[in-house]
Amino acid sequence: MKTLKLVFLLAVSLAGPGSCKHEKEQPADRKMQIFIDDLIRKMTAEEKAGQLSLFTSDWTSTGPSIRNDYIDLIREGKTGGIFNAYTVDFVRSLQKTAVEETRLHIPMLFGFDDIHGHRTIFPVPLAQACTWDTTLIEKVERITAIEATAEGLNWTFAPMVDLARDPRWGRVMEGAGEDTWLGSLIAAARVKGFQGKSLSDSNSVLACVKHFAAYGAPQAGRDYYTVDISDRSLNEWYLPPYRAAVNAGAGSVMTSFNEIAGVPSTSNRWLLTDLLRRNWNFTGFVVTDYGSINELIPHGVAADQEDAAEMSVNAGVDMDMQGSAFLSWLPALVKEGKVSEETLNNAVRRVLEAKYRLGLFDDPYKYCNNKRESEDIMRPEFIAFAREVAAKSCVLLKNDKNTLPLSKAVKTIAVIGPLSDSRADMLGAWAGAGSADSCVTLVEGIRNKTGLSVDILTERGCNITDEEYDGIDRAVAAARQADFVILALGESSSMSGEAASRTDIGLPGMQMKLAEAVIKTGKPTAVVLFNGRPLAIPGLDEISPAILETWFGGTEAGNGIADVLFGDINPSGKLTMTFPLNVGQVPLFYNVKNTGRPINPENPHEKYKSNYLDSPNTPLFPFGYGLSYTTFQYSDIKLTKQSYRHGENIIASADITNTGDRDGEEIVQLYVHDIVGDVTRPVKELKAFKKVMIKKGQTITVAFTVAPEELAYYHQDMSFSYDPGDFEIFIGTNSENVKKASFKIEE
Ligand code: BGC
Repeated sequence: MKTLKLVFLLAVSLAGPGSCKHEKEQPADRKMQIFIDDLIRKMTAEEKAGQLSLFTSDWTSTGPSIRNDYIDLIREGKTGGIFNAYTVDFVRSLQKTAVEETRLHIPMLFGFDDIHGHRTIFPVPLAQACTWDTTLIEKVERITAIEATAEGLNWTFAPMVDLARDPRWGRVMEGAGEDTWLGSLIAAARVKGFQGKSLSDSNSVLACVKHFAAYGAPQAGRDYYTVDISDRSLNEWYLPPYRAAVNAGAGSVMTSFNEIAGVPSTSNRWLLTDLLRRNWNFTGFVVTDYGSINELIPHGVAADQEDAAEMSVNAGVDMDMQGSAFLSWLPALVKEGKVSEETLNNAVRRVLEAKYRLGLFDDPYKYCNNKRESEDIMRPEFIAFAREVAAKSCVLLKNDKNTLPLSKAVKTIAVIGPLSDSRADMLGAWAGAGSADSCVTLVEGIRNKTGLSVDILTERGCNITDEEYDGIDRAVAAARQADFVILALGESSSMSGEAASRTDIGLPGMQMKLAEAVIKTGKPTAVVLFNGRPLAIPGLDEISPAILETWFGGTEAGNGIADVLFGDINPSGKLTMTFPLNVGQVPLFYNVKNTGRPINPENPHEKYKSNYLDSPNTPLFPFGYGLSYTTFQYSDIKLTKQSYRHGENIIASADITNTGDRDGEEIVQLYVHDIVGDVTRPVKELKAFKKVMIKKGQTITVAFTVAPEELAYYHQDMSFSYDPGDFEIFIGTNSENVKKASFKIEE
C-alpha cells in the first residue's frame, strides 16, 4: 500500500462527479424574506400544517389510496399543493378555490410525474440515457417543461436519478442506468432542462430529485424492499447523481420509500439534514414519496401516525405527500413541544419560498394560460424532436452480415409479434399526460416510411405474456411470403415502472417459441425489442441475425424506429445498463472489483476462482455497447506522458477510423483503473466520453483530458483523494472492447 496520499478534502468531502460548480439561483432575496416572514407570522399552526401537506386529485392514481375530499381540503386551507391535476381550466378552478376561499389566499403548487415528457412522450429515461447526449436530454426536459406549464403545472416529480444495477427492479426504466458518472451528468442536464434559465419564467417547472436515497438498490430487485449498502458504496456510487441534481439547482427533493441500514429515508435525519442541507447546502424543500410518513409504521420505526409525523419533520421532511400525517398531527406536536416552532416555520418557509420563486404570489394563475395550452402542446417541432430522440435512443445489439438496414427495394415485409402494432405499449410506464392514441406503432412507422410501394403483412403471432400461441402458424406463413421479417418482441409497457419487478427477465410468454418458428423459415429477420429493462435473452441472440433495442420510444416510437430500420438514421446508442446472460448473474455491472481470486480468462471454470459452475461471468451485452451500420477502428492510445506529476492533467488520445461505407456517430469511451488503492478499486471506471460524427473513410483523433482529481475516491478514513502510483487507462467502443495503456502519477 502507498504511504503518500494526496488528500484534497476541501468542500468535496462527499463529492463525486456531481460536484461541479453550478449556476444556482441566489438565496432568497431580502424582499422575499420580509414577505414570507410576514405571512408566517399571520399563519395558525393548522394553516402551516396545511402548507406542508400535498394531496392527489382524483384524476389519476399513482399510489395505493386516494382521499377524494381534496377540494374540501383546498377550501379549508389544508393543502399546500395538489398533484395529478392538469389542464388550464381544472388547475385554474382549484387555484381559485385556494386563492379566493382561504383566509390567507396562498396559491398552490401543482405537481405531476413528467418522467419522459408531458403530452409529447419521449423514449423512457433509460432509453434517452443510451444517447449519451446531455444536450439532447436537456432539450427533452425543456420541451416537457413547456408543455407541463402550458397545462397549469409548476412542479414535476423528476428527475429520477436512482442508480440501478439490478434489472429485476422495474424502475430501472426511469433512471440513467448503472454508471454514477454518466448518471450525474444526465441528472444535472434534466434539472437544467426543467427549470430553464430562471424558475420565474412562465415555462419553467420546479424539479424534484428523487428518490433520496438509494431507492435503486433494493435487495433482489424487489420494489420497496430493503436497502443495505456500505457507506462507501452509498457515497461513491449512489449519492453523486442526487448531488449533481442539487448542484444544478433542483428546487425540491423527494425522499425514497426504502430504508438504508435500518433507517427509512423519510425519518433519516442524517440523510435529510446533515448530508442534504448541511453538507450539500440544499436550500429547497423536501417532500416525501407517496404516503411514506405513514409507512414508517409498517417499517417498524414509528408506533403510530403521530410518532411518524414527529420523526419525519424532525428528520428534515418539509412536505407530506398524501399521508395526512402532518395535517393531523403537526399542530398538536408543536403544542406538546415535540416539534419546535422553528422546525415548523423553517419547513413552511421553504415551501413558501418555492412558491415565491415560481412567481405564484405575484400571479397565482401564471400557468393558467389557455392560449399557451392551445399553442404549446405537441407542437410539430416537439413531435419531430421526439422522433429524433426515439431513433437516437435505439441500440443496435446485433447485425450479422449487415441484415440491417433494410433495403428500400424489398417488396414484402412481414411485421410479426405482439408488439408490432400495439399502440398501448409504445409509451412505456410513467407516460405523463401522454395518450396512446397519438402514438405511432411500428407497423405504422414502417408504412409511413414505405408508402404503398411495399406490401406489409402483419401477424401478432402470440400475446406478450400468456401461453396463447394460436397465431404462430399464421406468423410463419406470413414470414414465408415476405422478403424480410421484422419480429417485434419484448415486454408490455406495464411490465416495468413502479411495482413491476420481475424474477424472470427473459422474453415473456410464448415469444421465444414464435421467434424460433419464424426465424426457422430462413427469411432475413431483424428483431425489434420493446422493453423497460435489460433482458436476459441469450437464446434470442443466438438465433436472430439482427436485434435492435428500441425500449419504449414514446409518441413517435414507430417513426423513429423505422428511420433506423431503413438506414435514414444510423444507430448510435450505447447501453447504459449491462444485459446479463441470465438472471442468476444479477446484479451484473461493468465497474466491478477484481476480487482476490479473479477469473482466469484462459480457463473460466477453473476451481477456486470467482466464477460460476454453470455460467460465464461475462454479460450478453456489456455497458457502453452498441453497434452502428458502419464500423470503427481504434488506434492504440497515445498519452502525452507515461508519468505525470501531482496535479498535472492526464491527456490521452486515440485515432478512430470509420472503416465502413457510411457516415456514423461513435461514442468513444475512456475508462481508468487505479491498480493499487487504499481500498480496492473497480477494474474500470468511466471517466470521460465523446460522441463524434465520423464520415466514412475519415480518421479523427479524439483526445481526453482527465484531471487527477477525477481519480479521487473514498479512502479507508473516508477522505476523498486520489493516489499516486500506477493506473491503467482504456479507450474503446464499449466497456469491454478497449485499447489499453498505462501511466503513473508520481509520489
Ligand atoms: C412514486 C413517485 C411518484 C409519486 C407521485 C410514488 O408512488 O414512487 O416516484 O413521484 O408516486 O406520483
